[in-house]
Amino acid sequence: MIRVENLVGGEFVTPDEFFDDISPLDNSVIAKIPRTKNVDDAVNAAKAALPIWSGLTIEERCVWLDKIANALELQIEEVARLESLDTGKPYSVALDVDANRSVNNFRFFAEFGRSLKSETFEMADATNYVIRKPIGVVGLISPWNLPLYLLSWKIAPALLMGNTVIAKPSEITPLTAHFLGRICTDIGLPDGVLNIVNGYGPEVGQAIVEHPEIKAISFTGGTATGKIVAATAAPMFKKLSLELGGKNSSIVLQDADLDIAVPGVLRASFLNSGQICLCGSRVLVHSSIYDEFMAKYLHELQDFEIGPVISEEHRSKVMSYIELAKQEGGEVLAGGCIPDKAGAWIDATVISGLSHTSRTATEEIFGPVVTVHSFETEQEAIEMANCTQYGLAGSVWSKSRGRQVAEKIESGMVWVNTWLHRDLRVPFGGVKDSGVGREGGLWSIGFFSEAVNICVMED
Ligand code: NDP
Repeated sequence: MIRVENLVGGEFVTPDEFFDDISPLDNSVIAKIPRTKNVDDAVNAAKAALPIWSGLTIEERCVWLDKIANALELQIEEVARLESLDTGKPYSVALDVDANRSVNNFRFFAEFGRSLKSETFEMADATNYVIRKPIGVVGLISPWNLPLYLLSWKIAPALLMGNTVIAKPSEITPLTAHFLGRICTDIGLPDGVLNIVNGYGPEVGQAIVEHPEIKAISFTGGTATGKIVAATAAPMFKKLSLELGGKNSSIVLQDADLDIAVPGVLRASFLNSGQICLCGSRVLVHSSIYDEFMAKYLHELQDFEIGPVISEEHRSKVMSYIELAKQEGGEVLAGGCIPDKAGAWIDATVISGLSHTSRTATEEIFGPVVTVHSFETEQEAIEMANCTQYGLAGSVWSKSRGRQVAEKIESGMVWVNTWLHRDLRVPFGGVKDSGVGREGGLWSIGFFSEAVNICVMED
């Protein structure tokens, strides 16, 4: 039994109360999680560490990020094992996607930090130069679907820019954040630079967002929670980054190469059991290739390995959408059932025959459930893709028209003939109800710093 502890000021501490961490693989209790309600100690520790950490040069902080990356990499199998245990995802996915990417996040921001150039703007009689100051103590809140991957995506740039951090992983998946805390103390990261607190979102998460000494909040999670976070933080004029839900379309045009499109769309549908905000849970296929595409898609689905969803509670939500789909007139082409074994398992599910404006086809399910729809024209496909409240991502599969269609999709990211192909320098984030702001490269640097212009008059 793992006992998760909070990391505060370089010490591992726990409040009096704990709750259970349950594995979705078989419903066994795998860890005890501290129920934290107050973040004052963590904030005080982060404030105390601020002068030392922000006083380092950016090059010195890059060295620390590299040290974290190297130490994590040495234990990458353990990171993957813990992530797989906590989320139920196959070990191979935990290793390839979660663990590797977590290492890469630290390494990427170390390299990126070294490449940053000072910005100057010359006038006829003066020179402007921009310096980037830390914001101070920042709060980082992340969800359960890609636990360390998403938390490290925030921790690395926050530390790079000289801030000290209060991080809160999801109550459902705290193990790898705890492991990262151990690694950071082992390598001697100065006390209080990274503080990790655990507990329930409406308690400890809310306490972070409300705390007046925490000057910025970077939040990834559901749109409903994002509204609460925004409503709490906005009157305090905190900097706010919101990465929220999605209901993304994979658009397969008439001239798509099906040898690429079928496995690509399948991966976008079901990787991580469909529990990635970028997953393509609406598949739009041109009517002329619909039958051929679906035959291949359903055939290849039989060999696609997925894990359980995150919890029995979440499975109930996903199953309620499958029931809704039937009421809305949908036909279940694959899956739709709960396999006969312990844990939060659910078969990969494909549903046809629904209107693209139905609730099943427009609300975020965040599980292994995909709706398929056919279209006649590119314009129709674009309208179908844009009809949801969300605007996070999407993909277009075509030999010749990918870019033209991609540019008309109302979302922050669109892939053409690929999916989840990530360059960490590019903007990552959504429009509409999928969020506010962007992460990645310069966008993360901008968020986690205050740009100050100094205008010097020439003699
Ligand atoms: P939630 O919104 O439920 O939770 C996200 C985080 O917020 C968790 O750490 C949670 O804690 C915490 N939290 C809950 N209530 C509050 C509160 N009042 N104040 C502060 N923090 C709070 O999302 P899920 O964990 O269920 O994750 C799934 C959602 O995340 C999906 O909608 C998905 O689309 C979205 N997501 C978006 C991504 C993006 O980049 N746009 C990427 C990945 C996921 P606790 O878990 O303890 O309740």
